[in-house]
Amino acid sequence: MSNTEFDIIKKYFTFDHNRADVNFSIGDDCASVSVPQGKQLLITADTLISGVHFPENTAAEDIAFKAIMVNLSDLAAMGATPAWLTLAITLPEINENWLRAFSNQLKTILTEYNIGLIGGDTTRGSLSITIQAMGFCDTDKVLRRNQAAVADKIYVTGDIGDAAIGLKIITNNICDEALSPCVKKLNRPEARIKFAEELVSYSKCAIDVSDGLVADLAHILDASQCGARINLSDIRLSSSAIYYFSQYQNNVIDWPMMLTQGDDYELCFTASDDNVAAVKNLAEKHQLKISCIGEITESCELVFIDPNGKIVNFRDNGFKHF
Ligand code: ADP
Ligand code: MG
Repeated sequence: MSNTEFDIIKKYFTFDHNRADVNFSIGDDCASVSVPQGKQLLITADTLISGVHFPENTAAEDIAFKAIMVNLSDLAAMGATPAWLTLAITLPEINENWLRAFSNQLKTILTEYNIGLIGGDTTRGSLSITIQAMGFCDTDKVLRRNQAAVADKIYVTGDIGDAAIGLKIITNNICDEALSPCVKKLNRPEARIKFAEELVSYSKCAIDVSDGLVADLAHILDASQCGARINLSDIRLSSSAIYYFSQYQNNVIDWPMMLTQGDDYELCFTASDDNVAAVKNLAEKHQLKISCIGEITESCELVFIDPNGKIVNFRDNGFKHF
């Protein structure tokens, strides 16, 4: 990029923070940080590309919000506390209004979660944002995909499928204020950081639902070498989702859409019976809706049971009754 690259970094991507674990950051070739004693470092990265991960006319604030949240959601999936970010951004042009909006949103979230932006890269090209998020958890406490055990209960946080409805509303140009929570869910997902930080005491196994519950639960089952039985009637839909299906779909719930489309950024986690009460209390403490949707089984099958007791298989390609 031209000389203004450094002006841009200084003006829009350099924020004050009060993290003592950052030794030095933006302005050197590398940042230097210190991991506190007794903690392990967790690292994740996600890229959002314009036209691929968000429509080209998406607001700068929404792009900034989602670019951070998808990364924080990965940290939440492991039970980690966010600490630092790097930001690699590719911009088609220097648009000060766009940069200001993007930067302000970035700053708001960094402040809210006490995260230091410690470095990155700024280049010219088609709009693309890569954020690397780093966080800590205790060395003996982390949520993994491979720790589900037979007879564990399976939970999801929040509202599964609302983001899929949000995308449908946007692509079909439906104007209905009653469905705005679904659009918000798509554009402004909220990583379950605070809940997950405490969940590590009562669970060993979690994943964040980014590719749809079916695919992401399947990752837990593959890693843990087990199966699951899920009751569709226990996946409690949001009031907006119920409204959507009654108003626009003749009361027929599109389960494949709700469970395979993704962008939920909720947690799917397991807990043994002796932790069920603690998990429920924790959700109440955080005023977070959780639903117990089924349990882990020994056979390596992912079985969904519809409200009529019929088995439904979403796993291979979409929706199959057998
Ligand atoms: P180099 O050319 O040595 O890789 P750069 O000139 O790309 O370094 O970056 C200068 C400094 O600014 C570095 O500390 C880098 O981490 C930081 N930086 C560059 N782009 C960003 C960005 N988008 N957000 C935060 N920090 C950035
Ligand atoms: Mg260098």
